Amino acid sequence: MTMPMNDLKPLFGDVAQEPIYIAGPCSAESREQLLEAARGVADAGVAILRAGVWKPRTKPGSFEGIGSRALDWMAEARERYGLKIITEVATPEHLELALGAGVDGVWIGARTTTNPFATQQIADALRGVDTAVIVKNPVIPDVDLWVGAIERIYNSGVRRLGAVHRGFGTQQTTPYRNAPHWSVPIELHRRLPSLTILSDPSHIGGRRDLVAQLSQQALDLGFSGLMIECHPSPDMALSDAAQQITPAALGEMLAGLQLRRAHVGDNAISDYRLHIDTIDNRIIELLAERMDVAREIGEYKLKHNMAVVQHDRYNEMLMAVEMRAEAMGLTKSFIHQIFRTIHEESVRLQIQLKEDDK
Ligand code: PEP
Ligand code: MN
Repeated sequence: MTMPMNDLKPLFGDVAQEPIYIAGPCSAESREQLLEAARGVADAGVAILRAGVWKPRTKPGSFEGIGSRALDWMAEARERYGLKIITEVATPEHLELALGAGVDGVWIGARTTTNPFATQQIADALRGVDTAVIVKNPVIPDVDLWVGAIERIYNSGVRRLGAVHRGFGTQQTTPYRNAPHWSVPIELHRRLPSLTILSDPSHIGGRRDLVAQLSQQALDLGFSGLMIECHPSPDMALSDAAQQITPAALGEMLAGLQLRRAHVGDNAISDYRLHIDTIDNRIIELLAERMDVAREIGEYKLKHNMAVVQHDRYNEMLMAVEMRAEAMGLTKSFIHQIFRTIHEESVRLQIQLKEDDK
């Protein structure tokens, strides 16, 4: 049983609640870079500045952050531009230093959320502290692990508590750096309806051209806001260069987002349509992913001189999807038609590969 958490408070007090936008560079790199990013973020209408000071990097030897010196630059940005400031903490020492610099909140990164010992240490250090705490999803799509981390922080008395969906590590070919698995944050919301949940399209997409569509998708699904990476010269960034956008692009993108009405049901038909559009987008993404795999299989068949159509495999696949579809209340003929079409397209792709090889 998940605890109810009925007594949560607004994350950032006086910041207008919905949608909550947080933006700023992946990492604070220099005083000039941070202040320029902060000015750009403020100009784009965003009230909360993010920047990583200690960076958890997959590869040793990558840029691991400036460290506590960068907190002074963040405090300066806060004063100059009237922004709230937040940073990532992964240890009690980070937390102490960040609170010492007067941060308005902290986030717990995906790698830390994955480790209950590390999360508990931060939770213990948060006892008696009134700050916003945002828990990013764990690296693996395990909602219990995410809820567990949130409960640890809640149990320490933190009431300005939120979550960030940043996608999940995956070995599959997807267009994303981290697979969204939207059903996981949706389940988190079902279990903790009063928790503020934001989405981080930058770490999900991993590419700046995906940020706008992922942001819209998150708002369509009812997320309470976004955390976006924004850098004055994205290509020069010392971490996550490919996914950061300029402050100008941020302003433009935010202005172009369609906001969900506060009350679902005001205009029920367009809510339904929005939902359908989101599902259709997911279907298209999955089809693209499936065709990628079909292409890889095609290459394998070509290399091993195998026939493109393997009849036994085709019949087995059709029977399996029909059975699964029937169990979910769909008609066999409907699913049969769809999968025949999908299979035809895979075959066409593989034949094309053979042709191109001649
Ligand atoms: C970040 O926000 O820069 C970051 C490191 O995020 P995550 O923990 O989601 O990888
Ligand atoms: Mn980053």
